Amino acid sequence: MGRVIAIANQKGGVGKTTTAVHISACLGLVGPVLVVDCDPQANATSWLGQDPRSVFPSVYEALMGEAALAEVVRPTEEKGLWLAPASYGLAGAQVELVDLPDRELRLREALAPVRETYQLIVLDCPPSLGLLTVNALAAADAVLVPIQCEYLALEGLGQILASVERVRQHLNPRLELLGLLLTMADARTNLSVQVQAEVQKHFPGPTFRSIIPRTVRLSEAPSHGQSLLRYDPTSRGAVAYAALAVELAQRGYGVATAGERS
Ligand code: ADP
Ligand code: MG
Repeated sequence: MGRVIAIANQKGGVGKTTTAVHISACLGLVGPVLVVDCDPQANATSWLGQDPRSVFPSVYEALMGEAALAEVVRPTEEKGLWLAPASYGLAGAQVELVDLPDRELRLREALAPVRETYQLIVLDCPPSLGLLTVNALAAADAVLVPIQCEYLALEGLGQILASVERVRQHLNPRLELLGLLLTMADARTNLSVQVQAEVQKHFPGPTFRSIIPRTVRLSEAPSHGQSLLRYDPTSRGAVAYAALAVELAQRGYGVATAGERS
């Protein structure tokens, strides 16, 4: 059964979407992977070739019980990668879900019928700890928290870790913290080096060895509508995400080849 990873941090601009797209693109080369865009800003959706103004049905309809998730999923240009797109209307779900039964478990229920279809399902979360993120954490087996290497990087980390703990206690006892991922690291600045040391000191266990460098190539990737794996596979950013994918596999969140599966 496909395992589910949520990429979450209530801070915006820390590399959640970039990480969701790239680990999915890396592991999609091996076996089928699904990205579910849970963010009303819909950055992963635009990046992977759908228009969030018009896409229908979308994750919104799946959460509202108006469409099956399987009807929402579309192929992408990336090998082995499928997308459940978000429309801008997903913003409304944050409010509308409040009155629905099982409001925290709608995504888990929507994903259940497709979990056999994909080897890995990656949930790209919005920059908040609201109901959409809670739905993602309740549906996931594990959560990966990207942390931008900058001043005050650890501020707010307590909040997301507390949310993970709350969801584990009340909704999803098997949820594990897969790891903290340092992103946008600049080896030339002391600050980046200090943040890395601080995160590794306070959270030694779950910090990934792979560190994602700050590179112009990664910031350009969305405007190309491609992952870096396709348009510059030997670049530092692509290599760093490939190394992360290997670590994910080591932590039990890899993708087996068809031969290995049978
Ligand atoms: P989030 O999803 O957490 O809001 P994004 O992945 O969208 O964060 O990244 C925020 C911005 O930073 C985007 O413009 C993205 O292209 C850019 N970016 C992300 N990772 C890197 C990186 N390693 N180096 C340079 N720019 C990056
Ligand atoms: Mg994002």
